[in-house]
Amino acid sequence: MSAKTVTILGSTGSVGCNTLDLISRTPEAYDVVALTANRNVSELASQAKNFNAEYAVIADEACYQDLKDALSGTPVKVAAGQQALDDAAQLSAEWVMASIVGAAGLRPTLSAIRRGVTVALANKECLVCAGGLMMQEVKDHSAILLPVDSEHNAIFQVFDFDRADSVESITLTASGGPFINSSSEDMARVTPEQAVAHPNWDMGAKISVDSATMMNKGLEMIEAYHLFPVKEEQIEIIVHPQSVIHSMVTYKDGSVLAQLGSPDMRIPISYSLGWPERIETPAKKLDLKELARLDFLDPDPVRFPALRIAREALHMGGTAPTILNAANEMAVFAFLEGRINFLDIAGVVEETLTQLDTSPLTSFKMVHDIDEEARAVAQRIIGRL
Ligand code: NDP
Repeated sequence: MSAKTVTILGSTGSVGCNTLDLISRTPEAYDVVALTANRNVSELASQAKNFNAEYAVIADEACYQDLKDALSGTPVKVAAGQQALDDAAQLSAEWVMASIVGAAGLRPTLSAIRRGVTVALANKECLVCAGGLMMQEVKDHSAILLPVDSEHNAIFQVFDFDRADSVESITLTASGGPFINSSSEDMARVTPEQAVAHPNWDMGAKISVDSATMMNKGLEMIEAYHLFPVKEEQIEIIVHPQSVIHSMVTYKDGSVLAQLGSPDMRIPISYSLGWPERIETPAKKLDLKELARLDFLDPDPVRFPALRIAREALHMGGTAPTILNAANEMAVFAFLEGRINFLDIAGVVEETLTQLDTSPLTSFKMVHDIDEEARAVAQRIIGRL
C-alpha cells in the first residue's frame, strides 16, 4: 500500500504533536507534505527534519528568516505568512489535520476543504464562526470532514446517519474542568496557571481555559449542531468528571450508544487518521474495574454562565456565534495575559453580544468583517475592565 500523504496545520500544538506522535509509530505509512506553526520556529524546524516534511510554513512573517536558518542545508522548503498557510493547505496531501487554534484556522481549513480531500477537524472555532457556510463548502466540494474533538468523534462513531430520524438526542459529556467544585469567590481569583491545569486532558492554553469556563462545551454544542443532523433542542450537555464516556446518542427506542475510552486525544486522532480503518494507539486501555464508578451531574448555570450564553447564540443564529467566538478569543487571551479576571471572560462575551446587532451570515467576507468588529468591541470592554 502506498504511503498516505498528510499535512498538519498547527503541527506544533497539542493536537498537532499528538498527530505526529501517531505518525512516528509507523513512519513508513505516511509522507508528510507540510507542517505549519504560528511562531514556534524551533519545534517546527525539528518536526520538519524528523518527519522529512516537504514544506515548513510559519504564519508570522517575522519568523521567516529564523526558520530558513534553522532548516538551511535540508531539502525542506520554507514559507511564511497567511497566504503561505493557505498555499500549504492547497498542496497535494490527501489527509489534512486542521489543528490551528481559533478563527485563524478558518482560511487554511477552507482551502483544504475546497480540494475535496479528507479533513480531520480539531479546530472547532471555524465551525462556530462559520458553520453553515463551511458545511456547504464540504458538500459542494465532496470533502470528507472527520471530527477530531473527542465528543464529536464519539458521536460520529455511534450516530446512525442513514436513520437520523431515529435519533432522539445527542449528549455531549463535559469534564467540568478544574473548577468544578470551586465557589464563585474562589473562581474570581484563579490564575491562568490554575485555569490551564486541566484534570483529565493535556491541551493547549486556549482550549484549557475554555474548558475551565465551560465555554468549550458551548462551542462544542454549536460545533455539534453543524456536524450532525440534529436540532438545537436535541443537544444535551451532562457533566461527567471522569471523561471516560466521550459522548452518546439516544435513539427513540430508548437505546443509548456511547463511545468510551481513556482521555487521550490520540484515540480520536487515530480514528480520523486511519478512517475508515482503525489503527493501534499507545493510549492506555480502559479498565472499568479500576474506574469502579462513573459520575454524572447537571452543569451549574450560575458558576458557568458561558454554556447559557453559547446556547443563546446558537438559538439567535446568523452572526451571533461568530461574535461569541471572537469575543471569547479576545477575553481568553486577555485573561491569559492577566488583564481581566477569570469570571470576566463570560461577561465580556455576553456584553459584546448585546452591543452588536445580529443578522444572517451569508458570506466568508461577512465572517471576516463581523469577527473583526466583535474583536474591537470586546477589546473596548476589556480595556474598561
Ligand atoms: P495549541 O495552542 O496547543 O496549538 C495551536 C497550534 O496552532 C500551534 O501549532 C500554533 O503554532 C498554531 N497557531 C496558533 N495561532 C495561529 C495563527 N494565528 N495562525 C496560524 N497558526 C496558529 O492548541 P491545541 O492543539 O490545544 O488546539 C488546537 C485546536 O484543536 C483548537 O481549536 C482546539 O479547540 C481543538 N481541540 C484541541 C484538543 C486538545 O486536546 N488540545 C481537543 C479537542 C479540540 P505555535 O506553536 O507556533 O503557537
